[in-house]
Amino acid sequence: VNNLYDALRAAFPADLDTWAIETDDGLVYTWRDLERGSAMIANLLQRLDLPAGSRVVAQVDKSVEALMLYLATLRAGLVYVPLNTAYQPAEVAYFIGDAEPAVVVCTPDRFGWVSKLGFRAGARAVYTLGADRSGTLLDRAVHQPDVQTPVPVGLGALASIIYTSGTTGRSKGAMLTHGNLLANAEVLRTYWGWRADDVLIHVLPIFHVHGLFVAVHGALLNGGPMLWAAKFDPHTVLQWLPRATVFMGVPTLYTRLLAEPALTPERCAHMRLFISGSAPLLIETFRAWTVRTGHTILERYGMSETIMLTSNPYGPDARYGGQAERRGGTVGFPLPGVEVRIADDADRALSAGEVGGVQVRGPSVFQGYWRMPEKTRAEFTADGWFRTGDVGFFDERGYLTLVGRSKDLIISGGYNVYPAEVEGAINELPGVAESAVIGVPHPDFGEVGVALVIAQPGQHPDPEAILAALRQRLANYKIPKRCFLVDELPRNAMGKVQKNVLRERYRDTFA
Ligand code: ATP
Ligand code: MG
Repeated sequence: VNNLYDALRAAFPADLDTWAIETDDGLVYTWRDLERGSAMIANLLQRLDLPAGSRVVAQVDKSVEALMLYLATLRAGLVYVPLNTAYQPAEVAYFIGDAEPAVVVCTPDRFGWVSKLGFRAGARAVYTLGADRSGTLLDRAVHQPDVQTPVPVGLGALASIIYTSGTTGRSKGAMLTHGNLLANAEVLRTYWGWRADDVLIHVLPIFHVHGLFVAVHGALLNGGPMLWAAKFDPHTVLQWLPRATVFMGVPTLYTRLLAEPALTPERCAHMRLFISGSAPLLIETFRAWTVRTGHTILERYGMSETIMLTSNPYGPDARYGGQAERRGGTVGFPLPGVEVRIADDADRALSAGEVGGVQVRGPSVFQGYWRMPEKTRAEFTADGWFRTGDVGFFDERGYLTLVGRSKDLIISGGYNVYPAEVEGAINELPGVAESAVIGVPHPDFGEVGVALVIAQPGQHPDPEAILAALRQRLANYKIPKRCFLVDELPRNAMGKVQKNVLRERYRDTFA
């Protein structure tokens, strides 16, 4: 295999005229459609005669044609750079300036200003692609031959630059090779027990690792079909459950599904696996899901820089004494072939039970941050481990628990406070739906915790009573100094709480 597309293509079913994707607006695409559509777009891209490593930036609505554009970019041996559709002009300007793409694809309504940005950054072509398959990309591509041989770039060649979600600061471009992507897709294929008759419900955006790599590669490398929704709608998912076997979602999708009375064990009887990731899954959601559906959510952990790193077991894991339990609140075991260690500030490995930085090594770890050699150097240890920026610990049984991000760590009067622990304790209190604990400047302690709490519908827990209850459960230095009830928490497109936004908002609490 010299191109990830070869590996995906080899897994397509023998009969290319069976269905590969059915969309929420009732369209059906066969495997032959995917093969031909991506060939035509690849030929269009190849006609531009671009130097190796050229970037194709796409900021388009989710559609099967957008997926074909991704596959076409792989086939043409170019580098796919998807952008969050929510990004506004100033953000798009930054990403285009940073990526310096040779090709830009945007929605037709944005062509005016995006094309200016693209050409200013040196783009050779700017195409448009609408959610309704309108636009110049497909208009041009239909005149191209529908056969194409994937460029044998080699597994070490860059396949994609994924910009991180920007949860802790400015997004960085993570450079991933064909080999990085393939290695991770293959390990997940075995670890999650993909089966010939699997049908995946795909409701995630395709500009991040979760929807584009974990979900799409999972289905394609299995040669199995997808039920494909441009946007998440709980009713569509409920309707599809009896026909599907695998669902992947971020935690907020699970909470939104739980709000639907029609979510029952009967409705989920045909399902094999529910997977959650991208943000911490509340233990309450994990438990409620089992009660409501009879299924135990499998939580896994990864990031743009590494794709998937750890996963709760699908079945008994021989490496861990045959343990098969999916433990809520943990992100499971390192995937086969992935090394995960917990290290202190001096990069010394710690033992089970000790909290420290999560460091990783393995075949899916990225090649570095795009055009940030300093930052790349800073995030790798001398012996080649990548510092994920997440903080966690292994328990005696080998399960990894994340307690937060190093940037969110609160250092109060010299003591480390892990927000996840405090949030967990708050969430257990009556009337509380969810919470976020952040560190803000404090004249005496340097930094102290502030808790933002969302009440359960119809409940009005008293912030003072919450803090009083916490004092019974946690050491004094961990207790937030203030607690506020809020209606919602700021989240980005992947459902992650933006603690940097909260820190900014509450920074003057003790000023
Ligand atoms: P940025 O790096 O720009 O601040 P980001 O880290 O949120 O943004 P992503 O690469 O999309 O960008 O997300 C990876 C992060 O998501 C991980 O480092 C981790 O903090 C979090 N994450 C992923 N899966 C889980 C999980 N199951 N539980 C808790 N956190 C998770
Ligand atoms: Mg990150």
